[in-house]
Amino acid sequence: MKFVKESANQQHIIDNVFSVVRMCKEDIANNGSDAVLNGTLGSLCDEQGNLVAYPSIFDHYHNLDYKNYAAYAQGFAGNADFNEVMIDWILQGKVQGKYISATATAGGSGAISITFQTMLDAGQTILLPQLAWESYELMAQQNHFNVVTYNNFKGDAFDIEDFETKAKAIMEKQHRLLFVVNDPAHNPTGYSMSNDEWKEVIRFCNEISSDGPVCILNDIAYIDYCFDLEHSRDYMANFNDITENVSVVVCASLSKTATSYGMRLGCGIAISESKEYNDQLTLSFNKYARSLWSNVNNSAMINFTWVARENKEAFLAEKQVYIDLLKQRSDLLLTQAKEVGLPLYPYHDGFFVTVACTDNDQRDRLFEKCIENHIYICKVYSGLRVAVCSIPTAKIDGLAARLKALMD
Ligand code: PLP
Repeated sequence: MKFVKESANQQHIIDNVFSVVRMCKEDIANNGSDAVLNGTLGSLCDEQGNLVAYPSIFDHYHNLDYKNYAAYAQGFAGNADFNEVMIDWILQGKVQGKYISATATAGGSGAISITFQTMLDAGQTILLPQLAWESYELMAQQNHFNVVTYNNFKGDAFDIEDFETKAKAIMEKQHRLLFVVNDPAHNPTGYSMSNDEWKEVIRFCNEISSDGPVCILNDIAYIDYCFDLEHSRDYMANFNDITENVSVVVCASLSKTATSYGMRLGCGIAISESKEYNDQLTLSFNKYARSLWSNVNNSAMINFTWVARENKEAFLAEKQVYIDLLKQRSDLLLTQAKEVGLPLYPYHDGFFVTVACTDNDQRDRLFEKCIENHIYICKVYSGLRVAVCSIPTAKIDGLAARLKALMD
């Protein structure tokens, strides 16, 4: 008998990150941390392996009046000043003359999840990147969506052709389209699309939107760690070109931006040409927020509002240290990979670099050999993800050669 409802998904969650994390911990317990390379952890860590927590964020948080921790947020959509701050923080004035609304969410995950629920019904199809953060697939399953994936790369560029072919087929079938673009600093490859690639995506969306609504879910979880931070939002100017039947939902994560993974705060920013459609998105987001988490972490919103308004320079300076560290680690891995001929997916920015395998069988063989050699990195589609965000530089040194030697 099924005690839970017939349609409840009872397959075990196969989380490629958490299972390898467990194995890695066992190995460390048996052999000591010097013998083990832990490349699994997707959180930012310093060179001593400690989780980064910015004093420019947490000192003030620690000293907030307790009533701020105790109080509910102002409303289901979050606190008005936080939402205002987030629109500025994310868009940095690149989008003008559109209808824009922000909803505070339970992490970036919350924003992504309520966009899924808002845009599609059970039985409809969502378009996801083939190499992608695992949770999209689970969220799609929970909503009983069909999933079609687009190929990420053609050579070292975004595979626009495959994306357009898949999108067109979905649009012809269901006369609406929701797709995810995790950019810039894609998880797991670190790819960041060029302005021309974005331009083409927007042009194409406008074209096919004559057949029905198009929602672009732009997951920007890692944007605040782009190496060229100053220009990291430039591509968003393309959102000025969306036409009436197209909306963009930019999903932001303060887990990453402010190293506040446990505070569960993010934001969904809906951008539309049409006021009516923007209102529809906002109302739906608010209702899902109300029904799922009611309202988000009030003190975290108050604190980030203060940081953005009063302590921005100090925060940006602290964060820059870790952007530079990510650059140092990823440069080393990329340079050494080139020297030894280790194939990587195209990397530009972000927390992860991914070893490119020919298929999942080669990936599985490499993964097993890595485990035998105390190297713990995570399986992704046709590749293994190296979390440069958490591996000290000294342990990255030589890793490319070790991986190359294990690859068949
Ligand atoms: N998007 C991507 C690509 C991620 O990797 C993550 C977290 O790992 C998220 C969104 C959401 O993170 P959170 O819900 O913690 O903000």
